[in-house]
Amino acid sequence: MKRSLLTTGLTITALLLAASSALADSGATSPGGDTAPTPPVEDPSGGTSSGTPVPVVPGRPRLRLQKLSDATLKSGQHPTVIVRISRSKAKSARVKVAIARSGKKTLTVNAGRLTTNKSHSIKLPALTSGSYRITVSVYGSSAAQVVRGSALRLRVKARTDSQTPPPPSSSSGVFPVRGSWTFGGSGARFGAGRTGHTHEGQDIVGASGLPIVAPLAGEVRYVNYQAGGAGRYIVMRANNGWDMFFAHCQYASAAVREGERVKAGDRLCLLGSTGDSSGPHLHFELWPDGWRDKSGTRPIDPLPQLKKWAR
Ligand SMILES: [Zn+2]
Repeated sequence: MKRSLLTTGLTITALLLAASSALADSGATSPGGDTAPTPPVEDPSGGTSSGTPVPVVPGRPRLRLQKLSDATLKSGQHPTVIVRISRSKAKSARVKVAIARSGKKTLTVNAGRLTTNKSHSIKLPALTSGSYRITVSVYGSSAAQVVRGSALRLRVKARTDSQTPPPPSSSSGVFPVRGSWTFGGSGARFGAGRTGHTHEGQDIVGASGLPIVAPLAGEVRYVNYQAGGAGRYIVMRANNGWDMFFAHCQYASAAVREGERVKAGDRLCLLGSTGDSSGPHLHFELWPDGWRDKSGTRPIDPLPQLKKWAR
């Protein structure tokens, strides 16, 4: 079944190639005309006579072996295809490797002339992530003697150094509390236990009345009050899309209104202890994908970012 399909394909290829003798050298693997420039490929057989005329010998070449050294690679790695050709009487045969991505031809690598009856490793250019089909073609003494192997499937995965992406961070910006402050103890950390939930922010402990400022430029979204929890609080959206939540401000200390544009360093309110708070501190939350008024979002530990702003 497979063989007869291959033979049919070769017949068509041969007919196409016979239409113009000039096409014979462009190869059966270049029907699309969108071939990228072919990068030079090291000849692993040690420099077998590329460009040297080889006597024309009748006989169709055979692909005795064709396989990929790895069927799965990471982005940036070089695929290696291993081939072994046999051909009666001829010492070598010309080999090309076509690399197609998602059905589209990507590029053709000219592997030069490879010695027959010997295994060769053909190193291909590094590829970006995606699914590829790699096809080896061996050229005989005439266009009718091109042998194309069945496509080898290759998957190239995106290179990820860790499973979870690093939290977003901003190299610009200012620390949200002006004056003398500390990060408090373990209970002040993001993720610390609270009755019925975990702490979703970082507490910054300081004297009552210290200015709380916008760490980044953006827009004030909410200036509000929550009696049993956040007390007087402010939510702002930075221009990079992050929402930031500032809780326990002093009563009547809000220096901004909802919808107001702020620059980094502009005062939002004063540090206080309103709501459910045991002493003056800023409770700060960072929501990179939007605050809790948008469903499906989550706060991240803001401490790494706060430390950057504190420098
Ligand atoms: Zn807190």
